[in-house]
Order: sequence, then C-alpha cells, then structure tokens
Amino acid sequence: MKKNDILKPVRQPDEISFEEDIRPKTLSEFIGQSRLKDKLSIFIEAARRRGEPLDHILLYGPPGLGKTTLAHIIANELGARIVTTTGPTLERAGDLAGILTNLKEKELLFIDEIHRLSRVVEEYLYPAMEDFKLDIIIERGAGARSLRLNLSRFTLIGSTTRAGLVGSPLRSRFGIIEHLDYYPHDELYEIVIRSSRIMRVEIETDAAMEIARRARGTPRVANRLLRRIRDFADIRYGGRIDVRCVREALQMFEVDELGLDLMDKRLLQTIIEKFHGGPVGLNTLAVSLSEDEGTIEELYEPFLIQMGLIQRTSRGRIATPLAYKHLGYKITKSQSLFDET
Ligand code: ADP
Repeated sequence: MKKNDILKPVRQPDEISFEEDIRPKTLSEFIGQSRLKDKLSIFIEAARRRGEPLDHILLYGPPGLGKTTLAHIIANELGARIVTTTGPTLERAGDLAGILTNLKEKELLFIDEIHRLSRVVEEYLYPAMEDFKLDIIIERGAGARSLRLNLSRFTLIGSTTRAGLVGSPLRSRFGIIEHLDYYPHDELYEIVIRSSRIMRVEIETDAAMEIARRARGTPRVANRLLRRIRDFADIRYGGRIDVRCVREALQMFEVDELGLDLMDKRLLQTIIEKFHGGPVGLNTLAVSLSEDEGTIEELYEPFLIQMGLIQRTSRGRIATPLAYKHLGYKITKSQSLFDET
C-alpha cells in the first residue's frame, strides 16, 4: 500500500483476509447504524416467520461503511446461502442467467457496485426481480426464439456508493432501500476496541478514541489505522498502543487531527489558493489536481463535505471558513463569495 493510501475507504488487495477475520457475523456484533439494524431485524424475523424470501434490498453509502458485511450478516441470520458478485464482472446477460438459475428458494444474491451493471444485464434483471422469470434468447438471427424460465424466489441485495447512478427502473424494484452513513466517533471507538480484542492488541482507551477521531467516519479506515499502528507499536512501543504512540504513528503516516491526508489538503489548498476559495467546477479542479473526477467525487469529497470543509453549490465547490482555519489561512475578501451562497 502506498503511504498516502492509508485513509482510502476502498479495500486494498492485502486486506482481504484481515477483513474476513474481523468482519462481524451477526447483527448484534455489528456496531452502530442502530436504526437500520432495527429495521433489518424486523424484516428478517418477519420473512422467517412467514417462511417467505426477504424483499430485495438496496444498500447505499460511501465505501467501507459495512454494506458487504451487512449482506453477509443478513444471509447468516436467515441461515441462507449467499452468492456474491459485482456489477462490472457481469458482462453478459448469460453471466447473470448462470447465477440466477442456480439459486434456490430464499437464497441470496449480492451484487456489489450495482450501479456499474451494463444496461443489457440490468434490463435482464428486471423480470427476475419482479416475477422471478428470466427470458432467454435461444439461437440468433432469423430463428431466434425466446424462452421464459421460472426462477426460485431469491433475494437480491444490491450495494452502491453512487445511489444517483441507479436508475429508477432498477431502484423501484427494491422493496427495501437503506442508506448507511458515516459513523460517529463513539461508534468507531467501539469498533476499534472490538477489533483490537480480536487482534489481541493491547490498547489504551484514549488511544482507541484518538484512532476513532481520525478514521473519517469509516470502519474500514479505523481497522486499517489500528493494524498499521500495531506494527508501529510493536517496533517502537513494546507492543502496547497508547495515545503518544497513535499520535507519533499518524504523524509519520501523514494523517492529521481531523483525519485528512496530503491529498485532502492539496484539494483544499488548490481551491483556496488557485481559485480564491471557489466556486470551482469539478472538472477544473480535477485537471488542476491531475486526479480523476470520479475519484474526487467518490473518495475525497463526501468526507470533506461531511466535515464541513467544502460545500457543493450549483456554481461549483467552495472551501468553507473552517477549511481556511484548519489549514491556517486568513479569511480574505474572496471569502465573501462564500457568504453570498
Ligand atoms: P462496504 O461494503 O460498505 O465497502 P464492508 O462491509 O466491506 O464495507 O466493511 C469494511 C470493513 O469494516 C469490514 O472488514 C468490516 O469488518 C468492518 N466494518 C464495517 N462496518 C462495521 C460495523 N458496523 N461494525 C464492525 N465492523 C465493521
């Protein structure tokens, strides 16, 4: 992992087995998101009592907040098998047909990044979700015939970081649509404590809180910071994590007190210095940072907006007075732009 990737909310290739080990297996082990958990436990219990499959569920929210974990928990609570795939890997309708025809009654299909399904595959999914039917085209050209197959009544769990990119025909076919939000510090603290217990790491409470405060509201980031700090503690602090150790490690990893990394700061500095605090359009900002627009929009902005450091307006992005303060800039006349909006 590159040094500056430590705060990225997406899963890094070297984290797969670590994440598996610490992933909560039941709703009661899943920390936070209590409103969502309450609702899910009612839906699960009702489906179980009626002996019916669960309604299709769409989970959306920033990466690393627990959507995949919840899908597995739902399967576990229902005692049902879950098959997992992702939007971009389902290239052809046949890929989806192969999976759907193998699902049994009440089994689950999890499609991560469902906003990246191709149009053809997505349209193929509609009758499968609605009527548990699949239209298969046999042969091509003049002799083409279509065959209607009956599927077992399965449950689809879709997950997306970009709810806006899920069109209404697909969205309307989900009976349950739920949003996951960034976690407050006290819940991240509990996640750090839980993970350190599983990892058998000794950590002081104020050290766990310090990690929670800098984890960008994201369990994946909290767990990653813990893992990296444990390495640091092993070498420099005899294995025990205290608050001094956390601060020293995070300084070395270039993670600041709010959980911002160098890229976040560069983004804020660019808006402030090159564009007088904004507004600046996403495209211009991306060019100026030599970054991809999607990466900025998906990985950097949501947290900066949540923290009140930038605002998204119809005219573009604006750095807020808090961003000026955090980076040690004086608020100049150009900030009047901000006051107008
Ligand atoms: P997403 O699918 O939203 O990107 P994941 O479900 O893969 O996120 O979660 C990322 C990691 O964070 C997992 O390893 C999981 O163990 C951990 N995690 C996420 N949410 C929670 C939670 N509420 N409680 C404990 N651990 C969590």
